[in-house]
Formats: sequence, C-alpha cells, structure tokens
Amino acid sequence: MTKQTTDTQLPSPAKGLFLGDLRFESMVPFPRVSNSERETLSLVIESIDRFMADKEEDFRAYDVKGEQPTEYLEQLKELGLFSLIIPEEFSGLGLSNSGYSRVLQQTSRYDASTSLTIGAHSSIGLKALLLFGTVEQKARYLPRLATGELIAAFCLTEAGAGSDAASVRTHAVKNADGTWTLNGEKIWITNGGTAGFFTVFAKTETAGGKMTGFIVERGWEGVSTGPKEDKMGIRASCTTTVRFDNVRVPADCVLGEEGKGFKVAMAVLNNGRTGLGGGCVGAMKRIIELSVQQASQRKQFGKSISEFQLIKDKIALMTTLCFASESVVSVVGHLIDSGSEDFSTEAAMSKVFVSEALWTVADEALQIAGGNGFMREYPYERVVRDCRINRIFEGTNEILRLFVGLSGVKEPGENLADVARSVKGIFNDPIKGFGVLSDYASKKVGQYTSLGRPRATGISSCLQSESSALEQGAVRLAQAVEVALKRYRKGIIEQQLVTKRLADVATDLFVGMCVLSRVSAIVAERGENGSADEIRIAKVFSNFSRVRVSNSLRGLAKNADESGLALADSVVASGGYRWDTL
Ligand SMILES: Cc1cc2nc3c(=O)[nH]c(=O)nc-3n(C[C@H](O)[C@H](O)[C@H](O)COP(=O)(O)OP(=O)(O)OC[C@H]3O[C@@H](n4cnc5c(N)ncnc54)[C@H](O)[C@@H]3O)c2cc1C
Repeated sequence: MTKQTTDTQLPSPAKGLFLGDLRFESMVPFPRVSNSERETLSLVIESIDRFMADKEEDFRAYDVKGEQPTEYLEQLKELGLFSLIIPEEFSGLGLSNSGYSRVLQQTSRYDASTSLTIGAHSSIGLKALLLFGTVEQKARYLPRLATGELIAAFCLTEAGAGSDAASVRTHAVKNADGTWTLNGEKIWITNGGTAGFFTVFAKTETAGGKMTGFIVERGWEGVSTGPKEDKMGIRASCTTTVRFDNVRVPADCVLGEEGKGFKVAMAVLNNGRTGLGGGCVGAMKRIIELSVQQASQRKQFGKSISEFQLIKDKIALMTTLCFASESVVSVVGHLIDSGSEDFSTEAAMSKVFVSEALWTVADEALQIAGGNGFMREYPYERVVRDCRINRIFEGTNEILRLFVGLSGVKEPGENLADVARSVKGIFNDPIKGFGVLSDYASKKVGQYTSLGRPRATGISSCLQSESSALEQGAVRLAQAVEVALKRYRKGIIEQQLVTKRLADVATDLFVGMCVLSRVSAIVAERGENGSADEIRIAKVFSNFSRVRVSNSLRGLAKNADESGLALADSVVASGGYRWDTL
C-alpha cells in the first residue's frame, strides 16, 4: 500500500517519483528562511564578508603551505563559526539546517578549506552528540564545542573500511566496570590534528548490534594523531590519522544506543549533507562572478569573449546549475528543519547533484579563463582542486546513487508484490479480488489514462511546458522502475547500471521540482515580467534535464552494458590497456 500521510509527516517527494507521483506538498510554496533567522544570518554573513573578503593572499599561502595557522583558527572561533548549529541554551547560535547551510555558502565564496574546518566540526563532528547525545553529554561538551575550545572530528573511515563503513576494525570491548577499551586506527580524519572531541565508531559485540558510537577526548591516554596529509585540494584543512591504543572510554560516553553505531553514523551523514551542499553553492557563486569578469574583459577577434555563443552557453549553464543546486539544498534543509523523518533519499540526491554541478561549473570557469585558468596566479585551478573532494567524501557519489536507486525502488517493489497478491486474489475469487486491488494497482490503470497522470500542482502557469516535462518524466520513471523490477526482482541489487540510471532520472526530476517550485514563488511575487531571468533558468534547466533523463531512460532499454562489463573484466584481467598502433 502507498504510505499514508500524517499531518506532520509529508511523504518523501523523491521516493514518490519512483511511483510516478509528483509530491509538491513539502516544497510549494518554496520554503523560505524565517524572518527572525534571516536577521541573524545577515549579521553572520556581514561579519564573514568583513573578515574573509581581503584574505585572498592569506588563503593562497595557507593552500601552498598546507595548513591554517593557529591564529587564524582562533579568529574563526572568535567569529563564532564553531557555534553555528549548537542550540542557544548551550551558548550556540542555534541556526536551523537551512541557516547553517547558508553560512557555509558564504565562507565557501572565499575559501573551501575554511568551510571544511568549520563544516566537519558541525556537520559531522558534533552532529551525533546533537542528534543522539544525552542531556548530560550535551551539557558537558556543547558549550566548549560552541566556543571552539573543543574542535570536533568524525572518525569512521579506516584503511580497510571506506565505502564499506560497516566493516570497521577499530573495536571496543566492554570492561566489568562498564567502561570500554578502545583500539584501532582511523584515517583521513578532517580536523584530526586540531580536534579535542572525537566521535568514534568502533566494532562492539553487544546484544544490540555490531557497531557503537563513542565520544573520545584528545587528552585521554592512548589517543594520538598522525602528521597532516599532503592533499590535492582543501590543502589547508587538517586531515590526519587518529589512533587509539587501549583507550579507556567511560561508560557514559556511548553515543546513542549500544550496538546502533551504524545507524548513528548514517543519520549524521544524512543530516549533514546541506553543509556540503551550501559549501558547493557558495563556491559556484564566486566562480561565476570571476568567470563573468573574465569573459567581459578578455577580448579576442576584436570582441569580448562574452559575446560568443559558445561562452554564453557556458555562462547560462553555470548559472542554471548554481540556481538548481541552491534550490535543492534549500528544499532538503527545509525538509530536515520541518521535522521530516524521511529525507535521506532527497539528501543523497542533493549531494550527488550539487557536487557534480560544482565540478562542471569549476571546469567550465577554468575553460573560459583559457590559459590563465591553468596558472596558479589565478584562482581557478585552486577551485578545481578544492572542489574535487565533494564527489568522494561523506559517501561517494557511486554509493549514494546506489542508495537513491535502491531506496527508491523499495516501495514500488513492495507494491508489485502487493499487485501480484491482488491478481492472485482475482483468479481465486474475481469479485473479492477486485475489492482488494491495491492503491498501486488502481493507480497503474490511471497512469496510462489522463485521469491518473501526476500533476505539478502549485506551479506557475507560465511554466506549463516545464511542468508537463516533469509529469511525463515521473510517469516514464515509474514505468521504467516497474519494468526493471519485473525483470530483475530482488536481483536488482546486483544491477548497478540499472539502479544508477533510475537514480539519475529521479534526481534530475527531483531537482526539477525544486527549481519549478522556486521559480513559481518568484513569479507569484514579482509577476512574469519581473521574473524573466528565473523563467529562463527554468527553461534551461528543463531542457538540460530532459536530455539527461531521456538518455538514461533510453539506456535502460538499449545499451552496450554487457559488452562494457565483459570488456572491463578483460582489461582488469590483463592488467590494463593492451592496445597500440605500432
Ligand atoms: C580529504 C578527505 C577528508 C575526509 N574526511 C573524513 C572524515 O572527517 N571522517 C571520516 O570518517 N572519513 C573521512 N574521509 C574519508 C571518506 O569519507 C572516504 O574517502 C570515502 O568514504 C570513500 O572511501 P574510500 O576512499 O576508502 O574509497 P573506496 O570505498 O575504496 O572506493 C573507491 C571507489 O570504488 C567505488 N566503490 C566502492 N564500493 C563500491 C560499490 N559497492 N559499488 C560501486 N562502486 C563502489 C567508490 O565509489 C570509489 O569510486 C575523508 C577523505 C578525504 C579524502
């Protein structure tokens, strides 16, 4: 059965797409930051601009050296940038998820390493304490985390446990007095060298499960950190190993329930995604400004290069991807802030879309700058180096695509089983059988007639063609899901290329919903004449996504997957590329 809506819990719009539904309820009207928070945000943004705007040379030097000086970290603390999401009762700023994301947007306009330092602290380092901590744990640590006296780090990854996070080998054994003895090593931990507070995930053999989250302090005997990693990008941020040798962890430092550490870790990562998203949006905004300046000033063939269609095309796409990213990050922030319990698919979609949008925007910006873009003297190469990590950490985009696709097909899969049962019922007893036809089965009938077609409700009438592309896209996705489920059944879990294509279609449709909702709100406020550029953005995005959606759907039906997979096996078996024209 299709899940029921309660007053407070609107059903997931992303998952709805896999059923052919357009669930605009949670995003129409387009969510806005509350008035009271807007005032606080304006002040924070102003102070960030005052502090960071003239530090370009410093940031360049930190990047070359690969570190943020202690004095700089102290200044970030004084600015309150470690207190952003900590509730006011614990001396924090108490920003919402959306507000926090907007702050990271601002710091990212200037320096990605700064955003990562404060982002790893808030988005992941202390998030488990906020989400799962006891009152006593919060009172003990949050005030010191708010001032930055304690910087936080999130310790999940190990040499043998990257994407497969459940396979951690760091382990904690419970002692007779209730304390734990922790041993193991974590790698690539952001803020590893500066943190005083570590959220650590370790294997535990408890009745409740196999992994538990712990609070660990740097000062405890047996805690040590390695040297800073020499990285491609975000070089000034501090990434180190963190080692635990027979560390005695007090009984009251368990985060959440014993044995439920995997759930805690995933909840943290899901909840933290708007921080990364905001950061990507900020970086895009800055680089678009730079590109526009460059394109206007650079003259070739007697004209500014901004006058050439091929450059205009890039600027339009960059602007559209940034607007779309900002829209989807706002919607996901709003879902989290409004207490939704089912936002992990939307959050994963936003991470994949936004990190790839930034990669495209940074690459195109560098291309617009030509040879200058390749020179260290200009900021483009650093932005390209800095932004590459977003597709890797906090869940690689491959893993998140699989997560999106598989969480999306879950409900249609259950419904198909439901349909199969209903149909069996019909054969057994036709009259009774019709009575038990599921919602889904009834809807399927509708999907092929105009009656049951999904509707983009609440979308401005001037976006008719874009709305209708979404409506058709949702139907085509649901049909493709059904075909895939019937063909592969449970085996879909092994069909990564199918899952990826379904996830990509759903992601573009979900982002499209966010864009149309936002543009509709702008049109409602300013009228069509006052929203000409936003309507253009909706059109450019709709076209961009229509092409991608069609390609993915076509790829589900007709592809060279079998040949490609066999070729990959052969290349792997022979140790690499083995052809030459000699
Ligand atoms: C600069 C930096 C900072 C980091 N900060 C932190 C931090 O603060 N805390 C922390 O805990 N971790 C941190 N990490 C670790 C980061 O989260 C991991 O790098 C990431 O989860 C991927 O793990 P991996 O690097 O081991 O890649 P792997 O898991 O080895 O993956 C390698 C490739 O294989 C793909 N792959 C893996 N499994 C599958 C599959 N089943 N199907 C298809 N493809 C697959 C991946 O998508 C990827 O492309 C950081 C990493 C870096 C580089």
